[in-house]
Amino acid sequence: MPKYVFTTGGVVSSIGKGVLSASLGLLLEARGFKVAMMKLDPYINVDPGTMNPYEHGEVFVTDDGAETDLDLGHYERFTHAKLSQKSNATTGSIYNAVIQKERRGEYLGKTVQVIPHITDEIKSRIRLLTAEPEDDADIAIVEIGGTVGDIESLPFLEALREFRLEVGPPNCCFIHVTLMPFIEAAGELKTKPTQHSVQTLRQIGIQPNVIVCRTGKHTLGAEQRKKIALFCDVPSEAIISAEDISPLYAIPVNFKKQGLDEVVLRLFNMELPPSELGEWEAMVERMARTTEEVRIAAVGKYTGHDDAYKSINEAFVHAGIANDCKVRLTWIDSERLEKGEEPDQLLPPFDGVLVGPGFGNRGIEGKIKAVRFVRERRIPFLGICLGMQIAAIEIARDLLGLAEANSTEFEPETPHPVISLLTEQRGVRDMGGTMRLGAYRCELQPGTRARAAYGADVIHERHRHRYEFNNEYLEAMTARAGAVVSGIHPHGDHQLVEIIELRDHPWFCASQFHPEFKSTPLKPQPLFREFVRAALEQRKNRA
Ligand code: GLN
Repeated sequence: MPKYVFTTGGVVSSIGKGVLSASLGLLLEARGFKVAMMKLDPYINVDPGTMNPYEHGEVFVTDDGAETDLDLGHYERFTHAKLSQKSNATTGSIYNAVIQKERRGEYLGKTVQVIPHITDEIKSRIRLLTAEPEDDADIAIVEIGGTVGDIESLPFLEALREFRLEVGPPNCCFIHVTLMPFIEAAGELKTKPTQHSVQTLRQIGIQPNVIVCRTGKHTLGAEQRKKIALFCDVPSEAIISAEDISPLYAIPVNFKKQGLDEVVLRLFNMELPPSELGEWEAMVERMARTTEEVRIAAVGKYTGHDDAYKSINEAFVHAGIANDCKVRLTWIDSERLEKGEEPDQLLPPFDGVLVGPGFGNRGIEGKIKAVRFVRERRIPFLGICLGMQIAAIEIARDLLGLAEANSTEFEPETPHPVISLLTEQRGVRDMGGTMRLGAYRCELQPGTRARAAYGADVIHERHRHRYEFNNEYLEAMTARAGAVVSGIHPHGDHQLVEIIELRDHPWFCASQFHPEFKSTPLKPQPLFREFVRAALEQRKNRA
């Protein structure tokens, strides 16, 4: 049986529990332990797949096609934990399962209640995470979304309290992450909100073992540490200061200095093998040394929300690491291009342009304008998912003379549906979990940019979309427009187009899959890496 770490949040939301959990996972792996990671989310959506990115941030997709919370992206970028459908459970998915069991008659004779039925289901999900032999782990880290004190989190916290009793207190470690506001007038960090939040947790029956204090620009002093230790009943070495640190990947190094992993392992009475974080630390140092900069414009729709394209932003950081440069990424709302601003006013300061994923009509024509501009001006271009579909539409309109080419998502009656639904998607009515989701095999064609970038003939990348390139236009695209289909997925008796490139262009590559989901700081994603390399080249040529 694994040991369990539960991370909760106090005082405010967005406190950084995800990065804390991922960082701890990394530190434990650095000492040779195998970790499993999980997130419990207290909202009623069965998964975040149906939520607007403005509302919730990016939807992260796993290999097995789970649409999950973006914190799972942090887990994958920091650790080797294998994430799947089992790694994210929401209130909605828990209730869904309980209600289905009730309908099947599995609780026959009983009144179905939050305690014990919902809490039992939560506990069984936590156990399920490491139930299969191939999933076994030394330590399972389970993050609980939301803030302690919320009505929604109560069943989860009650389940954890019971869980601790069932597996035995020495096998559980509770880490509470809280905010310590700095009050200018007093000139100090205030511990009171933390005290109250811990009191709330204790009312529920959970005593934290470790408290991680978010202190903004300030560092936790000895005085405050003593105060929190006294009022919250936590030894002072288990009170960790978490000031704002940039880059993100330097955060685990700060936790290591304060011995976060040691505190947890001692609590579990586990041995302390030496920590081997060298490769990670070298990567962080390398990031700090880069002076060169490359500017990329990302054309998208949800540009008002920092987290809406989380994995793309991170993949660019990784591509920067691979090219020893800093990528300065600027998100541009495609509606600006649609409403009259011209690409040559908006795009020229940039060395490369990305058109990102998205759903729905808004801003589409602006994205098409952006693709035309970079194609004609020979500026490096990367298209992702919707970005590939836009590239196909633009090429069809301009190079094949099909002025009304479109996707049936935006224009169901278009005479030239270059992007359309596969027959198997036509009857689908439910929106949740019904897209083409998760990792698919992609065969790369020799002599293409994609093949050169990956250095492999077969890759597996993750998808999240409903529409596909329409093979009726394949012949025209390749023979007449000079496009190259460099990646295909064999699908029954036909093939699905996975990557489109342009031959006569410095670097123009667009994928139907989402390359950003598998990028990590130690293993930058090949398409991002080569795109940034081409952008650097572009910058040098211009200079
Ligand atoms: N809206 C497009 C589709 O469903 C693209 C989705 C995406 O970019 N993830 O196919």
